[in-house]
Amino acid sequence: MAINTVTGKINARDLGFTLIHEHLTAGFPGWELDNRGFNRKSEVGKAVDRMKEIQDLGVASFVDPCPMELGRDPEFAAEVAEKSGMRVIIATGLYNDAFGIPQHFRMLSADDIADVYIQELTEGIGKTGIKPGLIKTATGGIPGMSVDTAITANEEKCLRAAARAQKKTGAPLLCHNSESSPFGRETLDIFKEEGVDFNRVLIGHACGVGDMKYYFDILNRGAWIGFDRFGLEPIAPDKMRLASLIGLLAVGFDRIMLSQDAVGCWLGRTFPAIEKMMEAAPNSNYAHVCKHIIPQMLKAGVSEAKIRTLTVDNPRAYFGD
Ligand SMILES: [Zn+2]
Repeated sequence: MAINTVTGKINARDLGFTLIHEHLTAGFPGWELDNRGFNRKSEVGKAVDRMKEIQDLGVASFVDPCPMELGRDPEFAAEVAEKSGMRVIIATGLYNDAFGIPQHFRMLSADDIADVYIQELTEGIGKTGIKPGLIKTATGGIPGMSVDTAITANEEKCLRAAARAQKKTGAPLLCHNSESSPFGRETLDIFKEEGVDFNRVLIGHACGVGDMKYYFDILNRGAWIGFDRFGLEPIAPDKMRLASLIGLLAVGFDRIMLSQDAVGCWLGRTFPAIEKMMEAAPNSNYAHVCKHIIPQMLKAGVSEAKIRTLTVDNPRAYFGD
């Protein structure tokens, strides 16, 4: 199946080693009203250097599932892809109730929101002509920054919109969950009602949950899970993420993809809460999985072939080949 990258269509079999969840840019809604701006030229330069570093480590494709209202910048992504040669795939889709979903979308129906997603996927984002290659969803906020007790009505509406856009376009769904209140199971329940094929669903941010029952419940239903926050140690230590990962692989579960959820450029300015988290996460960068996590997996007895499954074959199957 053909996938939209920011520089044109590719075939899923050509993805190669894929980081499934990273961010070139991010900013909370309203950052652009702060009158701070950002130095585009220098940030593009830094992003290109970071792409070259991970290309040297074997990474061929970079998925940036930034929600549409959180500082997604298709032209920034396209410029970085052109200058570095990295394949970059971006997303359509809204974030969660705690941090996103601007009022305009709160007042639209699920079908209207689905139409917005479908238009972006098939015609492009705004006037850029740049098309997303997947659909982002989000439930729950960020551990330590929000209290989440259930999927909210607005989040459910966006999940249903995303499911309908998925069925119409074939683009896969990538789902943010909060590690402190993960709603992966409930997300799948809603997708099931909408008739989504779970082979096109990645329940993200699972690695910091540390609950085998949660992993089994999701994997046994045929969805993928993201071990996609390596390096974000204030949320969960890498040792815990690795223990879960190696345990799952040892008993035969391997529908898992790896990443770091690292942010290259916070737009406008950053904040004490984010700065505090990043100070305690010195390894939160695009190269950490290749440089430190894969070597630890090999040392623990995970085979090269299994690492290829997680990093090459799984992204290819998830995107549809
Ligand atoms: Zn993310």
